[in-house]
Amino acid sequence: MRLIDADTLKKAFDFDDDEELEVAVIHYGIDHSPTVDAVPVIHAEWEQDEALYHCTHCRHTILCHDRMDLAEYHRYCGRCGAMMSM
Ligand SMILES: [Zn+2]
Repeated sequence: MRLIDADTLKKAFDFDDDEELEVAVIHYGIDHSPTVDAVPVIHAEWEQDEALYHCTHCRHTILCHDRMDLAEYHRYCGRCGAMMSM
């Protein structure tokens, strides 16, 4: 998979309304759109076991006594980098 910049692609197809786009032109625009750097986002949750919380993706464990601290300081897993649903 190659991720591209949709805004740049739209600019490449910025023709007049009455001008008809052909498939070859669209394919050319896709092929020549710059690739963007992106990292897949891992989504996980903190699974609570009293004051311990385990990442549902990698099982990393943290100690947290206040659930508000969990939302403020542990939005991402420190081991796998998963984004935590709160
Ligand atoms: Zn994790």
